[in-house]
Amino acid sequence: MGRPQSTPVITGRRSAHLPRGSAAGTLGFDPAPDPGLKNALCKAIEPEVFYPERRDHRTAALAQEICTHCPVIEACLAGALTDEGGASHRRRFGIRGGASPKERYEIHQRTTASSKEAAA
Ligand code: SF4
Repeated sequence: MGRPQSTPVITGRRSAHLPRGSAAGTLGFDPAPDPGLKNALCKAIEPEVFYPERRDHRTAALAQEICTHCPVIEACLAGALTDEGGASHRRRFGIRGGASPKERYEIHQRTTASSKEAAA
């Protein structure tokens, strides 16, 4: 008999555009900093969902599932990649644009390598 599956509860409100001085701002991250992302689904969800603990893969998967339904996922991911530049995956935080820090790092590495090949 397997472990019972419980459904994660999403409560409260979060803002993808948290004002400066908010808890997220204090921690140095802002999941969807572009104020143009008005339709961001994560605005109505607790921020903890998008910033799970390092080994909390279940919550991370939930955030990524939510992102797949978000109408601004492409803009969100592009903004995250721009904000994070060449930072290592350990210097990237949270689920943004449907991607984990490691996935965004890998996307950055691939696009950088492609750009270098095209320029050569
Ligand atoms: S793609 Fe995800 S993190 Fe980005 S705005 Fe949408 S729900 Fe938020």
